Amino acid sequence: MDAPQPAIFIDGKAVAARLRAEVAAAAMSLRARGVAATLAVVLVGDDPASAVYVRNKTRAAREASVDVRDHKLPATTTQAELAALIDQLNRDPVVDGILVQLPLPAPLDAEAVIAALDPAKDVDGLHPTSLGLLARGRPSFVPCTPSGCMRLLGEVGAELAGARAVVIGRSLLVGKPIALLLGNANATVTMCHSRTRDLAGEVRRADVVIAAVGRPEMVRGDWIQPGAIVIDVGINRTADGVLVGDVEFAAAAQRARAITPVPGGVGPMTIACLLDNTVAAARRRRG
Ligand code: NDP
Repeated sequence: MDAPQPAIFIDGKAVAARLRAEVAAAAMSLRARGVAATLAVVLVGDDPASAVYVRNKTRAAREASVDVRDHKLPATTTQAELAALIDQLNRDPVVDGILVQLPLPAPLDAEAVIAALDPAKDVDGLHPTSLGLLARGRPSFVPCTPSGCMRLLGEVGAELAGARAVVIGRSLLVGKPIALLLGNANATVTMCHSRTRDLAGEVRRADVVIAAVGRPEMVRGDWIQPGAIVIDVGINRTADGVLVGDVEFAAAAQRARAITPVPGGVGPMTIACLLDNTVAAARRRRG
């Protein structure tokens, strides 16, 4: 029998850097026509992780020649005050994309805030119109992490038509949109969740595995079908402070054809796809 080929480690950092360079070139060409693509970032409260995410998004945007308008609001902000800001940003002709950093502090209702966004500025792709269009197979803005996963699958030439794809996790942010995207690409999709009876059995049949759960290394390496492609969305910090994904990486890499590491796989793609959506929004709104 042939010795198994070593898995390709899908380098999300490099793919994201390439996408960010493409976005920067598109933003510069808009600038040459007098249009500065602009992202409004809304951060409510002082959750330290959210502050770090916002800082990273802001830095990456500026590096890609995308202007950023920061709106930092105190944790005591009311639903009505937040709604008023969203309304103002919806009407501001200079703002192309609006990002509301989630989660919002209690008791703010994130769903109501997202529903209030102008779908033409919904660069996070979470508005019901964006998700509805995705379900209809006519996507406008695709949520950023799922979009990043699809780009990584493209990077390794994954043959999706007819492939058996298993998505573990069904959140609106990650699992559900990925399942829709894979279905739109003609994969046969199984969506697994906390009530799935035989997760190992489902994964063992999969040509493509997407893990988006948030449980360290719960997908065991020996569940992976030899030659499968594995995209690990999970970001988990172990007790000793190490970042790991939802997949038992070293063992899975013995069997997979290609696999994303954590960190350095899906993570870097999310911001790059947000910037891509922002420049697309600017182009659509302002030609
Ligand atoms: P959620 O907590 O919203 O969803 C987790 C999903 O996992 C749920 O659908 C849940 O099922 C399912 N699940 C929980 N336990 C099990 C189990 N034992 N077996 C099978 N399924 C299970 O998380 P998110 O979707 O927001 O995020 C998932 C992971 O991705 C997290 O680690 C998060 O940090 C990471 N993430 C990474 C990003 C990146 O940029 N790389 C961006 C966004 C998220 P049920 O619906 O039944 O409860």
